[in-house]
Amino acid sequence: MNHDDLAHWSKRAADWTRDYHAGLRDRPVRAQVQPGQTAAALPAQAPEAAENMETIFADFERIVPNAMTHWQHPRFFAYFPANAAPASMLAEQLANAIAAQAMLWQTSPAATEIEQVMVRWLRDALGLGHHFTGVIHDSATTATLSAVLTMRERALDWRGLEDGLSGMPKMALFASGQTHSSIDKAARIAGIGQANTIKIPTDDTLSMRPDALNNALVQHKSNGTAIAGVILSVGGTSVGASDRIAECLKVAKAHDAYVHVDAAWAGSAMICPEFRYLWDGVDGADSIVFNPHKWLGAQFDCAVQFLADPVPQVRTLGLRPEYLNTLGQDEITNFNEWTVPLGRRFRALKLWFLMRAYGLEGLRARIRNHVTWAAELCEVIRGMDGFEIVTEPRLSLFTFRHGDNAATEALLERINDDGRVYLTQTRHDGAFVIRVQVGQFDCTRDDVMCVAEVLRDLTSQTKNAGQRPGVQ
Ligand code: PLP
Repeated sequence: MNHDDLAHWSKRAADWTRDYHAGLRDRPVRAQVQPGQTAAALPAQAPEAAENMETIFADFERIVPNAMTHWQHPRFFAYFPANAAPASMLAEQLANAIAAQAMLWQTSPAATEIEQVMVRWLRDALGLGHHFTGVIHDSATTATLSAVLTMRERALDWRGLEDGLSGMPKMALFASGQTHSSIDKAARIAGIGQANTIKIPTDDTLSMRPDALNNALVQHKSNGTAIAGVILSVGGTSVGASDRIAECLKVAKAHDAYVHVDAAWAGSAMICPEFRYLWDGVDGADSIVFNPHKWLGAQFDCAVQFLADPVPQVRTLGLRPEYLNTLGQDEITNFNEWTVPLGRRFRALKLWFLMRAYGLEGLRARIRNHVTWAAELCEVIRGMDGFEIVTEPRLSLFTFRHGDNAATEALLERINDDGRVYLTQTRHDGAFVIRVQVGQFDCTRDDVMCVAEVLRDLTSQTKNAGQRPGVQ
């Protein structure tokens, strides 16, 4: 295959993409295949001889789409979204065409500089203070790991990097039980350890209790434990819980703790001023992460980390072996020094296309619709026989149950086998609950209301033991 062939097949792929998206509502949202089914459709070994692209493309169409869960389906209400607005997909195609590795300014000046400008555009769009700068990572997990490594080294006066962790004081990290598992993963990888990741109790709003944080910090300090830092959450994954940032930050800062805020999902909603109360005080944080690939519309992957001062993170993660020397350009930003991996994709291009093609007003309108429709759907479900709302809408996320844990779990399985919508579960106060989050870029009010229709159909069938409609 050469570049002329690539042009031909790119056109085929673009047409396929249009048809695929136009037909998504006719597909079940969650893949309906069995484990091993896809692997069994592939030959055991790689081909020795080149194959014809017509055959390869036909095999793709035959094997792949039916064995995928369709994240761009307008009735995907599971997990959090991984959106891909068409303009951001186009930018990804162009970034793929150039296929640059953006580790240093000189390996891709435009990638570095557009990244700097996009971080500023987003900082301002989210209403953050002008002291923040930042960097784009693949995922929130990597951004949080970067922040945790930085807080560890800051607490050790950067001795861990040289000397390793044995012989260092015991160290602890503090977060509430509502924070995402990426915080536990970061603590494990950073050598802080799960046992030293202290889960601070929450109050009845599900915010970390500032007094409990203070007690834990005092107690650990008095035991001689070093304080790595505090991780606060805005829009937790389970039910969307947020910590009261200003109050918790005040306590953390009184103990000189480094503070990272995980707003991976909810951060996108902060382009709407009316939701910013959820992270009131956030300007005092050292580090903040949010994923434009979740709710804003940037194609996966794209996680923006804002930093009040990048120096501690660059000091922790930056290395300059001779082969990476930039020969007289040392003062220019080389983003690999801000991140864990050396190699970096040109992720800023899709943000540039996204914000220009829809405008911040267009992006705000989508998020506002999602929040409104989630609230409407919640009221409809509340009024339905046998359903109980367990957690009220936080932005566009709420949870419900139907009977006890076993009955709710059985209903969830039937919802996803039916295929018209896709929902997933969490556990809240011991109860198995079904989450509904509204955030897919192309979803309409009718798509959202389809959840109630599916619930009605399936629960009335249970009563009538009738036939259940599925997506064909
Ligand atoms: N933090 C929160 C609140 C999340 O919801 C998620 C994922 O859903 C993450 C972190 C991890 O995100 P990523 O997949 O970008 O690592």
